[in-house]
Amino acid sequence: VQRTFSILKPDATRRNLTGAVNAVIEKAGLRIVAQKRIHLTKAQAETFYAVHSARPFFGELVEFMTSGPVVVQVLEGEDAIAKYRDVMGATNPANAAEGTIRKLFAESVGENTAHGSDAPEAAAVEIAQFFSGNEIV
Ligand code: ATP
Ligand code: MG
Repeated sequence: VQRTFSILKPDATRRNLTGAVNAVIEKAGLRIVAQKRIHLTKAQAETFYAVHSARPFFGELVEFMTSGPVVVQVLEGEDAIAKYRDVMGATNPANAAEGTIRKLFAESVGENTAHGSDAPEAAAVEIAQFFSGNEIV
């Protein structure tokens, strides 16, 4: 079993869709083993997306991620990192496959409903930014 880190982004909380997204996650066989609703600070968002700090959309990304509450999660399952990337669909919802979270719910490449770690090292760093070991059950 593997763990991945997920964020249900502010467009999901704003539209009251967190339960609908969680249903897709659970239907795919991923287990939500930690979850909390928080409002990211600017510093937290900048740290989280530091890898994108040189990209032209970085300011917009941080602005969006701090525009409302998010739900941070740890998901567990067989091949969880790749599986959740599949379940989320392409970054741009216009390119996302049928049945994926971004196809079902996302409005634009910026406001794309969900984040999922892209590699085991990233998952470990991202989980540790938001959860302590005893919060993951
Ligand atoms: P995430 O890291 O959020 O799971 P991802 O791995 O599919 O998404 P990345 O390339 O890591 O995509 O981009 C991180 C986030 O930055 C995207 O989810 C999206 O919200 C935003 N983003 C990416 N490209 C653009 C763009 N061209 N314009 C605006 N926002 C963008
Ligand atoms: Mg990414």
